[in-house]
Amino acid sequence: MKTIGLIGGMSWESSLLYYQIINQHVKKRLGGHHSAKSLMYSVDFHEIKTLQHQGNWAEATNIMIESAQKLEKSGADLIVICTNTMHKMAHEVEEAVSIPLIHIADSTANEIVKDGIQKVALLGTAFTMEQDFYKGRLSEKFGLEVIVPNEVDRSVVHDIIYQELCLGIINEESKQMYLKIINDLIQQGAEAVILGCTEITLLISQDDCVIPVYDTTRLHAVSAVDFALN
Ligand code: GLU
Repeated sequence: MKTIGLIGGMSWESSLLYYQIINQHVKKRLGGHHSAKSLMYSVDFHEIKTLQHQGNWAEATNIMIESAQKLEKSGADLIVICTNTMHKMAHEVEEAVSIPLIHIADSTANEIVKDGIQKVALLGTAFTMEQDFYKGRLSEKFGLEVIVPNEVDRSVVHDIIYQELCLGIINEESKQMYLKIINDLIQQGAEAVILGCTEITLLISQDDCVIPVYDTTRLHAVSAVDFALN
């Protein structure tokens, strides 16, 4: 079994889920008392969030690179960045270490393609919904058509992530707002929805939606385990 190196803390609310899912999946695959060999380097999310909103991506990239290098030095065999947004610098992180990085968009898109879905809605932070690092990968590498909410709805989705979900606040009213936004995207032809932020799964589940829901937290954690065991 390879040792999974997790860059966590973005936010720790979702890092908890990663830890739980990787261990549950190792147990499911190997049985008995098996559990995941893992290391987590957890950052201070206040620093990351501040740099993101200042647009200081260079410094944020340095922090991700240093975190990955610390994990590699400590014995990690693979790197998992436990957030969608911070895959903006996935390439730079990959270049800075000699162990593989499991890309969250790949873990997710592989399942979507397998299920024969072509047009997907993407919910996440404004960075993830508006910039090309994520949508571009889904369309160029996997041939998916990706749609995102309109500008007003994007800011609703973004604000609920930072002001509530990353602080562990789960609000029924916010859930209804998300479901209304998902419904609008269904009207625009979305066949499935990507929960493209690792905290959205705290708010929305498959039971809430009539179209398939792709939970990036779960898919990423499971594919890291599959890589570690194969
Ligand atoms: N965890 C979130 C994501 O998956 C947002 C927090 C962050 O900005 O990293 O994008």
